[in-house]
Amino acid sequence: MAGRVALVTGGSRGIGRAIAERLAADGCRVAVNYHTRRDAADEVVAGIRSRGGEAIAVGGDVGDVEAVAAMFAAIETALGPVEILVNNAGITADDLLLRMKPEAWEAVIRTNLDSAYLCTRAAVRGMLKAKWGRVISITSVAGISGNPGQANYAAAKAGLIGLTKSVAKEVGSRGITVNAVAPGFVATDMTEALGDSVREAALPAIALGRFGTPPEIAAAVGYLASDDAAYVTGHVLVVDGGLSF
Ligand code: NDP
Repeated sequence: MAGRVALVTGGSRGIGRAIAERLAADGCRVAVNYHTRRDAADEVVAGIRSRGGEAIAVGGDVGDVEAVAAMFAAIETALGPVEILVNNAGITADDLLLRMKPEAWEAVIRTNLDSAYLCTRAAVRGMLKAKWGRVISITSVAGISGNPGQANYAAAKAGLIGLTKSVAKEVGSRGITVNAVAPGFVATDMTEALGDSVREAALPAIALGRFGTPPEIAAAVGYLASDDAAYVTGHVLVVDGGLSF
């Protein structure tokens, strides 16, 4: 993957950070997108550069049409057209359906699903010209099995799977693969916010008896981005320690 231009949305923290670091270690030139935490994105970029890699930080709310257009223009100027897109940015706003406010529904759909539509559409243009590309979206086992208190999040993550499979069929003949990775519980700020009791209650359902780590999710992304995965498309790779089988 030497020299390939990769964009990781929400690359400033957690799983996105590990993906940015993994793709840089694999030789990609990485655009690390952030929304609110420029300091964190700068730290990821500095770490990659200190190991001899190439990376830039690019701000922007990936749920915003104009911000996405500006972000892609900035990346094209600095690094060239995006060849590997990782739709990772995501948020939760959990509540039981009857208590879920429209704002919580809309924010989660916008950040987790609208973002992937906007970024995939922007990236695929250049990939079609290049006749090569990788689109990888981070969905969730919640999008496959559902989860009480996460109707908005599960709907967005299920939507990502539909987007992945449809676009895979649209662009497969042009050398572009489109896949998704579905993590279970992974130790990041997102799951830290659940609190100790919820995290401990989840453990018995996980065959491997522990939460995953961000690099374990990044390894799956690294595989799907590589030429080894050239014949894999429209696939949802579950990486959940045996939570959902
Ligand atoms: P974190 O909360 O640790 O990090 C979220 C990242 O997304 C941050 O980099 C944040 O940027 C970015 N982000 C949030 N909103 C926006 C936005 N509007 N525009 C651009 N970037 C944004 O999350 P995780 O690392 O845990 O999760 C990463 C992905 O993996 C998400 O899609 C999540 O749904 C999915 N996932 C996570 C699981 C887990 O157990 N942790 C399980 C299954 C799926 P900033 O810091 O700048 O605000």
